[in-house]
Amino acid sequence: MKFNKVLENIQTYEAGKPIELVVREFGIAPENVVKLASNENPIGTNPAIAKVIRSNADIAHLYPDDSMFELKDALGHKFDVSADNIIIGAGSDQVLEFISRALLNENESVLMSAVTFAMYEIYARQMGAKIIRTQSWEHKYEEFIEAYRMHKPKIMYICTPNNPTGDAIPREEVLKIIEAVSSDTLIVVDGAYMEYAAAKDAAYAITPNDVLTYDNVIYLGTFSKAHGLGGMRVGYGIAQPGLIKELYKMRPPFNITTLSLLVAIEACRNDTFVERSIALHQEQIKRYEAFAKENGFEYIESYTNFITYLFPETMDSTLISDALLRRGVIIRNLASYGMNGVRITIGTQKQNDVFFKHFSEVIS
Ligand SMILES: *Cc1c(COP(=O)(O)O)cnc(C)c1O
Repeated sequence: MKFNKVLENIQTYEAGKPIELVVREFGIAPENVVKLASNENPIGTNPAIAKVIRSNADIAHLYPDDSMFELKDALGHKFDVSADNIIIGAGSDQVLEFISRALLNENESVLMSAVTFAMYEIYARQMGAKIIRTQSWEHKYEEFIEAYRMHKPKIMYICTPNNPTGDAIPREEVLKIIEAVSSDTLIVVDGAYMEYAAAKDAAYAITPNDVLTYDNVIYLGTFSKAHGLGGMRVGYGIAQPGLIKELYKMRPPFNITTLSLLVAIEACRNDTFVERSIALHQEQIKRYEAFAKENGFEYIESYTNFITYLFPETMDSTLISDALLRRGVIIRNLASYGMNGVRITIGTQKQNDVFFKHFSEVIS
């Protein structure tokens, strides 16, 4: 059978290795596996969310409210925007897919940083679009604008804070990039980790309202990271109604589940869990910074719930990640991104203790 030609250039997205795989392959008991690979919230499920799931266990036969009225209302209050500014996706990943399908074809290109969220490229390739990357993994104004002028991309991805590097750019810098780009290019501001950046330094905080005055910008957010709802698959895009209306044409009906809808509504009303997650994170990430210094390698200053270690030539990120995996510690090797480094989700105190112990043994 002949498949669509664009598929020849697509590499399947490789998700962080699941706990089940380590249990199966290395015979490690599930309770001894420490997974710090997928930027999941280490605190676990918010008890208020678990309660919503339990008390709605008997409505699985019902489709969700496809207007998602209540969730849009809650998000609208949270961000001071209206319902027609919002589109909901099964994760912000699905909104990225809508954007790609609504705008791209084989004559268009997309622009992104040298090292950034892998799905931008995959969704663009599905549409046959050309991928343009800047030279650095940081989002540098000059590099973005130079590449923009040369290629006139249809979409420009600003991932701040950036995954898998953890760095971010100040709000003023993002606005400067937006100002320099014409309305023929859509700018995607992916704020998947914005809660962490905003808590660390207000100059790096971007709200949907900061960019809503531009009709060629869409802000993306997710419940998967700070809200700890990765398994429920809810994200959102916020933009001008005209843009949202076009993206809606790409949306399948009932694109999030009945339970996902209910838990996302609850999450909007419940900030304590996010605050608790960030407090734990800010305390624990200091240990990772100190650990890098003690062991003589670099890290990237992080505005996210993970940290990226950069190794000298004497340390090999693939060997280190594989050795840790055999010990039941799952982290993210960045070799496939062209970096000799690893990305580690900051865990609970106990998980981090286990990581430091094994990492020290592996590198000595
Ligand atoms: C996690 C993540 C997303 C989306 O996650 P969903 O679970 O699909 O909402 C989007 N962008 C970046 C940079 C991410 O790290």
